[in-house]
Amino acid sequence: MTHRIMIIGGGAGGLPLATALAEAHGRGGRAEITLVDPNATHLWKPLLHEVAAGRVGAQEGDVSYAAVAKRNGFRFVRGAMTGLDRGRRQIAVRRVSDREGATDTQATLEYDTLVVCVGSETHDWGVPGVRDRAVMLDTPRQAERFRRDLLIAGVRADARRGTTGTGGIEVVIVGAGATAVELAAEIRRTTRAQAAYMPARLDLDRDVRLTLLEAAPRILPLLADRIAASVGSLLSALGIDVRTGERVVEVTAAGVRTARGALFPADFVVWAAGIRAPAWLAGLDGLETDRVNRLVVDTTLRTTRDPDVFAFGDCAACPWPESGEHALLPPRAQVARQQAVMLVDTIGARLDGRALPVFRYRGFGSLASLGELSGAGGFLGRLVGGSLLLQTFTARSTFALLHFMHQVSIHGTGQVLRDTLARWVHGGGEARMKLH
Ligand SMILES: Cc1cc2nc3c(=O)[nH]c(=O)nc-3n(C[C@H](O)[C@H](O)[C@H](O)COP(=O)(O)OP(=O)(O)OC[C@H]3O[C@@H](n4cnc5c(N)ncnc54)[C@H](O)[C@@H]3O)c2cc1C
Repeated sequence: MTHRIMIIGGGAGGLPLATALAEAHGRGGRAEITLVDPNATHLWKPLLHEVAAGRVGAQEGDVSYAAVAKRNGFRFVRGAMTGLDRGRRQIAVRRVSDREGATDTQATLEYDTLVVCVGSETHDWGVPGVRDRAVMLDTPRQAERFRRDLLIAGVRADARRGTTGTGGIEVVIVGAGATAVELAAEIRRTTRAQAAYMPARLDLDRDVRLTLLEAAPRILPLLADRIAASVGSLLSALGIDVRTGERVVEVTAAGVRTARGALFPADFVVWAAGIRAPAWLAGLDGLETDRVNRLVVDTTLRTTRDPDVFAFGDCAACPWPESGEHALLPPRAQVARQQAVMLVDTIGARLDGRALPVFRYRGFGSLASLGELSGAGGFLGRLVGGSLLLQTFTARSTFALLHFMHQVSIHGTGQVLRDTLARWVHGGGEARMKLH
């Protein structure tokens, strides 16, 4: 009988998995692969801060799930999983029918193997005002909206400077992990590019004030002290005000208030202070979850309480024995990708009745890219010397390679090379940022 594999979530992990599984086990009719996602199109999540900063358009990297499914031979169901009945091996799905994400029907889908990879969302930690007033970069729509609002704010501030002689924009980014640091650097780069299109009243480099607030004593907690210190120097040189030891307790119309009573005025607040898995995973038909809703899995990526349910990527709490007794894998696209590759073998082993492989993560570095400003010959080299320059160069190359491999896993090498060449040939005349 055909084995029914249900993949929930077509992100950095789920979409490559569906494509590879269809290739490996779908064509011969051994398995039927279904991918479920509430969106019609896929955008690789690590590109979101570049969308937010206007470096790439939300549609530029967009991929239609239905088209990829048809080309590769798997089924795509547009909808959001809402429930699970493990006894019946059924999932409940809220079907989505239009561009705005409106839902109409409920459906029940059956599986033999269920793979959950629904990613993560920004965690507000219950801080008042965050949900209503801060921007979170979880979806292309949020990133695109932030880009447009920032652009409009720039134009208005420029006009204000022309009429009243005063103007400026305050952007406060809360959190100083890799995402927040990258975003700050990208925004600085974008505002510089935007300045070239403005009537020169506003000095966007000087008048767009960027502040990073971090509760911990230092930025980039996952990286070595020396690197964090060097990146801190770079951010200062870019005019980004980095404040550590500032725990945010409230976001108000006036700005961001911290535990020691300081108020940081803000026109825009971007919240990037940690993530959690979607709340509906907690208590999903008795599966084990941790305190941030992640499904607990063993090193084979199987959930601890059901051998037919697997989870990976950001929504899984997966042991990382090579890093320590209680260490867990970090929420990175690199991790999700490597896990997807292994799961193709895992499913093969399941179908053959063999022992499941064990996941071993191979990290290729996680230094923040810091936009083009960090590139060879950029500020970084002059400011902090060769060793960090080499590391950021390596990080950017790793990022580009990771993105390339993601695209190859979806479209195939030939098409990605053709597209890359076409972009390179036609790219010269394009604006360096999106202005509309
Ligand atoms: C701004 C930013 C920059 C980043 N930069 C990097 C980087 O440089 N390097 C790196 O390694 N990592 C980076 N990351 C982290 C990386 O994006 C994630 O670790 C990675 O996307 C996780 O992959 P995933 O498949 O688990 O989840 P995702 O890629 O988030 O995909 C989850 C999918 O599940 C779908 N989904 C959600 N709910 C449901 C539901 N109920 N039913 C069905 N489907 C659902 C979503 O629509 C989505 O398509 C960055 C993240 C952000 C936000």
